[in-house]
Amino acid sequence: MKFGGTSVANIERIKAVAQRVKREVDAGNEVAVVVSAMSGVTNQLVDWAKELAPLHDAREYDVVVASGEQVTCGLTAIALQELGVDARSWLGWQVPIKTDDAHGKARIVDIPCDDLNRRFAAGQVAVFAGFQGIGSDNRVTTLGRGGSDTSAVALAAAVGADRCDIFTDVDGVYTTDPRIVAKARKLDKITYEEMLEMASLGAKVLQIRSVEMAMKHRVRLQVLSSFEDKPGTMVVDEEEIMEKELVSGIAYSRDEAKITLTRVADKPGVAAGIFGPLADANVNVDMIVQNIAEDGQTTDMTFTVSKGDFDRAKQVLEANRDKLVFRDLISDSNVVKVSVIGVGMRSHAGIAQRMFKALAEKGINIQVISTSEIKISVLVAEEYTELAVRALHTAYGLDSE
Ligand code: ASP
Ligand code: MG
Repeated sequence: MKFGGTSVANIERIKAVAQRVKREVDAGNEVAVVVSAMSGVTNQLVDWAKELAPLHDAREYDVVVASGEQVTCGLTAIALQELGVDARSWLGWQVPIKTDDAHGKARIVDIPCDDLNRRFAAGQVAVFAGFQGIGSDNRVTTLGRGGSDTSAVALAAAVGADRCDIFTDVDGVYTTDPRIVAKARKLDKITYEEMLEMASLGAKVLQIRSVEMAMKHRVRLQVLSSFEDKPGTMVVDEEEIMEKELVSGIAYSRDEAKITLTRVADKPGVAAGIFGPLADANVNVDMIVQNIAEDGQTTDMTFTVSKGDFDRAKQVLEANRDKLVFRDLISDSNVVKVSVIGVGMRSHAGIAQRMFKALAEKGINIQVISTSEIKISVLVAEEYTELAVRALHTAYGLDSE
């Protein structure tokens, strides 16, 4: 049972968490609990470190930001003990949650759990500080923002849990952002692959890495509300979903910016010449389109980067202008990427066409298209975000009654 920051935001809520855990224990289950820091706390800790030194020692950053989870895991253990539940807290280093040494975004490498399993069998509830680990340098590490989801999935995989429940402030995964589409529906089930696409596209319910890990180790994940007592969304293997929807969700990401280089030469090595320097500058490139050379010699190259990398990408390209040879650099950050996601599209024709038609009917111009096995994405002008998402939600029959 993993509880996010809003679920442990204050003492009253921690008491409610303890009640919820006790119910599972009383039902005869062996339970491990993973908690986040109280909501807002990690942000504050990050700000303090930045205020002292923008380029601080990442090992000390980890010591600071890991502290939020230390508080909530101790408090949750106390709250459980107050209810008569045998419980104890576990900090990352005590388990130990062994990670690599990439401070600030460490990856879990091993969780020895013989001791834990013995204690579960003896009826003790383990309350873990999420987010924390210990590096091979014997220093505290953290798993990146939102990392306690990954702590929970990793622990579930390590101890061979039947299920990993992620309690949060939403009651599940929706077909799209309910703030944009009032008719968005909560999904009963979604596949790992689809969840991964949703998370990558900015649906912030789960840390991407936690979904990757659940998929790899086949951990049955549930996203559910910590405030209401009702089933959430199960994230499961594709085989478990009998009636596959063609499309399960519509996602959008405003974090896109478009760059076009006109009249680049159409010959071997040109793409490598453009994207090499961008990769060296750590610019992550997303959609890429290159057309054929109409005149047999030059063509245009269009691609997108995140808004945060936009200026750097332009600088890098201008700095390499002599080597790259292009006529103009045209850029536009007023764009949004809208995607339809569904494992059903692997085996069905006409899914893309439905998307293009729905957008055309609203007079929305498509600037760039890219596809993968289970996703079609288009780049459109940012002012059409809401209109596009709503139109697609309706077009794929996702609107609730
Ligand atoms: N407290 C950490 C964060 O805010 C980890 C988490 O909540 O998942 O990023
Ligand atoms: Mg979170």
